[in-house]
Amino acid sequence: MPPPLAKPVNPEPATHEPVAPELISSGSAASHGGLAAAYGATSPDSGLVPLTLVRRAPQADDVEIAIEFCGLCHSDVHAVRGEWGGTTWPLVPGHEIVGTVSAVGSAVTDFAPGDRVGVGCIVDSCRECESCLDGLEQYCENGMTGTYGGVDRRNGDSITQGGYSSSVVVDRRYVLRVPDSLDPAAVAPLLCAGVTTFSPLRHFDVEEGDVVGVVGLGGLGHMAVKLAKAMGAKVVVFTTSESKVPAALELGADEVVLSTDKTAMDAANRSVDLIIDTVAAPHDLNPLFRTLRVDGALFQLGLPSEAMPPVNPRALIRRRIAYAGSLIGGIAETQEMLDFCAEHGVVADIEVVGADQLKDAYDRMVAGDVKYRFVLDTSTLQAPDKEVDA
Ligand SMILES: [Zn+2]
Ligand SMILES: [Zn+2]
Repeated sequence: MPPPLAKPVNPEPATHEPVAPELISSGSAASHGGLAAAYGATSPDSGLVPLTLVRRAPQADDVEIAIEFCGLCHSDVHAVRGEWGGTTWPLVPGHEIVGTVSAVGSAVTDFAPGDRVGVGCIVDSCRECESCLDGLEQYCENGMTGTYGGVDRRNGDSITQGGYSSSVVVDRRYVLRVPDSLDPAAVAPLLCAGVTTFSPLRHFDVEEGDVVGVVGLGGLGHMAVKLAKAMGAKVVVFTTSESKVPAALELGADEVVLSTDKTAMDAANRSVDLIIDTVAAPHDLNPLFRTLRVDGALFQLGLPSEAMPPVNPRALIRRRIAYAGSLIGGIAETQEMLDFCAEHGVVADIEVVGADQLKDAYDRMVAGDVKYRFVLDTSTLQAPDKEVDA
């Protein structure tokens, strides 16, 4: 979150030159808490370098989390390279955070030290607008506070810093409970990729017997396949690449349609109830609309950096098709997703990497060379510089 762009402006990753650990305050100066080892960018060209974060001391409603794992999301790459604009450096990315509670504030009763918890893309919101009151914090009318790169609502002048780090302090209202039965590393990607696909599936009330189409088979797409299957749907993966057919079937897809094959697309006419489109590059949606039944819907989750081919309204009108977008999920819905995943044994397919592999992982992520999500083991981060005076 926000969804990945199609093409990075700078596909060559920045060189990874070690620099002296740098102090970043991510809380008010009056309430410095612990030091955290972190990896972040100090400029658009710095790549990821070791940094020392000063996390705020837990306030009454805060939960301090010792981070174990953090998923690598496409958004992280765009943010650290400043490709979406608005990046303030230094920046520590990461919004697929899993760890254990290390301390809680005096007003926290629902979490205790030792609990396994998660933090997704949202660490604060206005809590007053209609969206917030409806549990749709991602659509907060006053702007949600992102887990990294957001302006901290507490003081209005510090920038939130994410999960490529050994600890984080988050208000209890934005902390998720991670079921003990799930592998904590493989849970991490559920906090962004998982809920981003779960939310439209739930919004459409997908149930046993529905047919769900999934377009694109990356971090988001592979979660869409698993979640739709767990909801009892028949899953059809649409792909332009024949080489992805075995992988799609392995993930549990019932059928794979090569969208470049006109005969196959014709055969899929009026066969699908809902399409989850995860592709972040411009592509023609009209052939996909023709695979939908009456009252079908297509949810677009990827945000291309260039214009999409025009949508033909006739395709929508003739079958009362809805063309929609969707952004991550609210806090309550994210918890519902985690509990659903525990009930159905769903986690992401991951490759765990250490801090020294981040550069390579970013290259491979941009090239689509990962099945299907990298997860950073935060125990590999460099220890913070104890000499830093906080
Ligand atoms: Zn993300
Ligand atoms: Zn709000």
